[in-house]
Amino acid sequence: MENLLEIRRELHKIPEIGFQEEKTQKYLLAIIEKLWKPYIQIDVWRTGIIVTIKGSDPQFKVGWRTDIDGLPIQENTGVSYESEHQGFMHACGHDFHMTIALGLVQAFSKKQPENTVIIYFQPAEEGPGGAKPMLEWLRSERPDLVPDAIFALHIAPEYPVGTIATRAGMLFANTSELFIDLKGFGGHAAYPHNTRDMTVAAANLMIQLQTIVSRNINPLDSAVVTIGKMTSGTVQNIIAENARLEGTIRTMSAESMKLIKKRIKALCRATEIAYECEVTIDYGSSYYQVENETHCAHALLDFAERFPGVDAYECPPAMTGEDFGFFLKELPGAMFWTGANTAYGLHHSAIQPDEDLIAVNLQFVEHFLRIFTLSE
Ligand SMILES: [Zn+2]
Ligand SMILES: [Zn+2]
Repeated sequence: MENLLEIRRELHKIPEIGFQEEKTQKYLLAIIEKLWKPYIQIDVWRTGIIVTIKGSDPQFKVGWRTDIDGLPIQENTGVSYESEHQGFMHACGHDFHMTIALGLVQAFSKKQPENTVIIYFQPAEEGPGGAKPMLEWLRSERPDLVPDAIFALHIAPEYPVGTIATRAGMLFANTSELFIDLKGFGGHAAYPHNTRDMTVAAANLMIQLQTIVSRNINPLDSAVVTIGKMTSGTVQNIIAENARLEGTIRTMSAESMKLIKKRIKALCRATEIAYECEVTIDYGSSYYQVENETHCAHALLDFAERFPGVDAYECPPAMTGEDFGFFLKELPGAMFWTGANTAYGLHHSAIQPDEDLIAVNLQFVEHFLRIFTLSE
């Protein structure tokens, strides 16, 4: 097997978005096939891969999940191994996540684990969401590949390399995309009485959406409704027939997510009446909260405290989202942040995670998966 740094850089060059990870899948498969042993089984689901390493004396199956997709972002790092796919980038560290997972396959192919380890290379984390359909497929078609517990990591730009940060309970929020389209009736700027102006309607709706968090959500709960993009009209002297609001919703509870969607619907219906227009709502991809099971989260933190070269940190929850939440909704497990020490945030075109994180995390996760036991 080639060196893991080279593998990470090769993967970095070929970012592909959700369910289009064909080159990525091919690249991963070529490496995994070279590591094959009689106790290793390779399965394929859409653009994903499932590698089962049968244990020498298995008591249970422990899962490890990596996401494999990139983002529609034009890279701006200037590194020699920049993305070869114009307009696409691994800006969320999934190239690192995949490399660590390949390193695990290599480690377990060198030395068989006692328990069965299943490694999931999951497509489409950034959207439309691969975790939910992958788990549904496993449950209905391949129950033998459903683990008894499952773990995953995500790089964290703000922590130094070697920091392992997690907590029992909620780690990441419930999230949903939000797209609202308004359709009225355009016309000449000098004849507003003959039109139904969607710039005015959208502006008012955008302001009303701000009242959901301030007036409807319990102040002891937390939620975010952000409109990040607003478009309307065509030119300065035509009244806009169409407008569009694009945003995201984040909540700490599934109930608040429901409440926010109910309020959005009501405000959109009210806008239809007030401005005589049609308003349609599309929630795009919605992810369930990442809720760490207590035993699994503590097992990670305890192991990190004892493991040389890493620092355990019990961190607060974050308003980020992750479709790994769908695995944790049904299975015990936990996710953790791992330090990547870069000045730029996730999804930034200049993000450059520290490559030293690969070796540290590979060591940590390999040993953790070898010693992890289910709660009695
Ligand atoms: Zn991301
Ligand atoms: Zn990510």
